[in-house]
Amino acid sequence: MDAHLQAIEMKIRDGARLTKEDGLALFANQDLAWLGSLADFARKRVSGDYVYFNVNRHINLTNICTARCKFCAFGCDADSRQAYAMTKERVLEIARVATEDPELKELHIVSGLHPQWPFEYYVDIIAMLKEALPHIHLKAFTAVEICYFAKISGKSIPEVLTTLKTAGVNSMPGGGAEILSDRVRTELCPNKATAAEWLNATYHAHRLGIRSNASMLYGHIETMEERIDHLLSLRALQDETGGFQTFICFPFHSKNTELAYMPRTSLWDDLKTIAISRLLLDNFKNIKAYWVMLTVPVAQLALGFGANDIDGTVSEEKIMHAAGAKSEKALQQSTIIDVIRQIGRIPAQRDSMYNILKVL
Ligand code: SF4
Repeated sequence: MDAHLQAIEMKIRDGARLTKEDGLALFANQDLAWLGSLADFARKRVSGDYVYFNVNRHINLTNICTARCKFCAFGCDADSRQAYAMTKERVLEIARVATEDPELKELHIVSGLHPQWPFEYYVDIIAMLKEALPHIHLKAFTAVEICYFAKISGKSIPEVLTTLKTAGVNSMPGGGAEILSDRVRTELCPNKATAAEWLNATYHAHRLGIRSNASMLYGHIETMEERIDHLLSLRALQDETGGFQTFICFPFHSKNTELAYMPRTSLWDDLKTIAISRLLLDNFKNIKAYWVMLTVPVAQLALGFGANDIDGTVSEEKIMHAAGAKSEKALQQSTIIDVIRQIGRIPAQRDSMYNILKVL
């Protein structure tokens, strides 16, 4: 092993922070078993042997979207055959049925950037859900949606966030970060929040006490350096606010997108990326192996490469499946528990703020 990699291993064992050059050296190295053992070591030190999951339901209010990002198979125009837009009544009906399960603790709400709905429509939906189901945690709207709401309402980002928090938003999901690089965003998603805007909206959310997740969509046109820079931007913001709860990386699925010619990322790349994320994001307690994108067997393997969270039962995920995700649309709790126990770890059902509800 070369001297740089030995020095990186020493840093990890000592709990010292890795640099951009260290991250690049880790991506260039192909000793996956060594990398995995270091990420597993860091995971154990930071978050112990619990593997977290929650019981949640996704609601995607509409797939009609003005942004039409090249990597997205979910967003469409209003006149598309697949287009849909939920009425408030329909949203409430879905939420009521979902919450008949007494274990369900969270609704995860993200959507396209609808060209006609005013900001008030989203606020009304949140207020309606909070009034009807006050015990349910509402994890709603990505930083991209927050920037869009500011644009269509003429309000500032803090005003948008304050309005949504008052209506009942408890936390925010981490989507829309993609790769925080102007080059990548100009090429793939020029019609939505820039990297700086995503980071700014997230900063204000954290300042207002709205915790959020962070994500990375990798395996398209980004370079390894852009992946590392993305992770370091998230780490810097976490140093400043401490408001991120977890990091999720999404391997790009190209089916039904404008980039359909691109191959799926390799399992090798998926595991390296999870492991390097754990090692660079030393101020994140939780790294999620999102089974919807990875498939359940790969998510299980990722738990040995630095991950400590396997998301949730999910139920009715639409966005990733539109792009050809081969995983199930929902998982039974018993399956999640088996997947965790099979690798000798401890299943812990959590709430949306990572409080442990049950150790199983
Ligand atoms: S990724 Fe989000 S913003 Fe982009 S087209 Fe899809 S739904 Fe719209």
